[in-house]
Amino acid sequence: MRIAWGVCMVAGMMTAAVHPAMSQGMKSEAAHHWAIVVHGGAGVIARPELGPKGEAAYRASLARAIAVGAKVLDAGGTAMDAVEATVKVFEDDPLFNAGRGAVFTAEGKNEMDAAIMDGATLRAGAVAGVTQPRHPISLARAVMEKTHYVMMAGPGADAFSVQAGLEQEPPAYFFTESRWQSLVKQLKKEGKPVPPRPVGAPPPGQTVPVAQLNEAEGSRNYGTVGVVALDRKGNIAAGTSTGGLQGKMPGRVGDSPIIGAGTYASNQSCAVSGTGTGEYFIRLEVAREVCNLVQFRGMRLQQAADEVIHKELDALHGDGGVIAITPDGQMAWSFNTPGMFRARQAEGGKVEIGIYNDEP
Ligand code: ASP
Repeated sequence: MRIAWGVCMVAGMMTAAVHPAMSQGMKSEAAHHWAIVVHGGAGVIARPELGPKGEAAYRASLARAIAVGAKVLDAGGTAMDAVEATVKVFEDDPLFNAGRGAVFTAEGKNEMDAAIMDGATLRAGAVAGVTQPRHPISLARAVMEKTHYVMMAGPGADAFSVQAGLEQEPPAYFFTESRWQSLVKQLKKEGKPVPPRPVGAPPPGQTVPVAQLNEAEGSRNYGTVGVVALDRKGNIAAGTSTGGLQGKMPGRVGDSPIIGAGTYASNQSCAVSGTGTGEYFIRLEVAREVCNLVQFRGMRLQQAADEVIHKELDALHGDGGVIAITPDGQMAWSFNTPGMFRARQAEGGKVEIGIYNDEP
């Protein structure tokens, strides 16, 4: 049953990749099963630090986000639409380091990165260091769809988000007390100056930290988000959104918006979103590397993801993980940290949610 589906998928995949127009005509034939995998960041996530309440909050947020993507796919929507819609839910959720809840730079600002890629066409869009769009993932998609570029950065990208008619937010919108306190703690520990609270942020003591975890030692970068999806036409897509690393120098850009490093999708192989210390992911081209192993070495997806994370990333002493999906419905996650917030679901199946590395 599964093999027959896989063969059918390959036909759809080739058609979509080579003749995108023809793939539209195959719609009625293409009875692919949709699937979706999401992550909400990897890191030193320990049970005592997270606590039952924190754990429940993260599990609920993961369930809420994946349900949005699943609904899009179940209604016959595209993988691209499912990825964007799901990432937007995460970007609105202050538990995650993306959009509202993004970590602060050493100067107390939020500089966000995001990317999205369409496996059917290899078209991609990415933004780096943006400060005002409510949904950086939608800005990445606008770069893909409304410009001839793949990547835009800084003030030019912010200005384009206004031109593209995307929702704008003031710095105070992105402010969360937990992330602020975590930054202050880090800067003090490193003997660095603490910047003034952002203009418009509520006075100290008037807000409640959103989750204990954000205060925990070693947890300061948690919460980059990513989504990979397979739609009923057999097309796959990937998207990633992040505030980057807490306390980063202004202007630092991680792997998330770099096509091939933190985000990649091709119907010829797989779609991948990564999370972890971006500098390692960039040097290893982690996302594309996983896909290369699938495409050119014929590896199963899980084996390819494990190879890159547990051999190549480990060898560089890098930390993090990936989620991935193939056009024939394989889903995988792999990480070398104590935890990665994650969830997956295939059509007709239940939602599986995991946090720690001792869960399936
Ligand atoms: N990869 C992100 C970055 O380096 C951070 C993360 O995933 O935690 O910007």
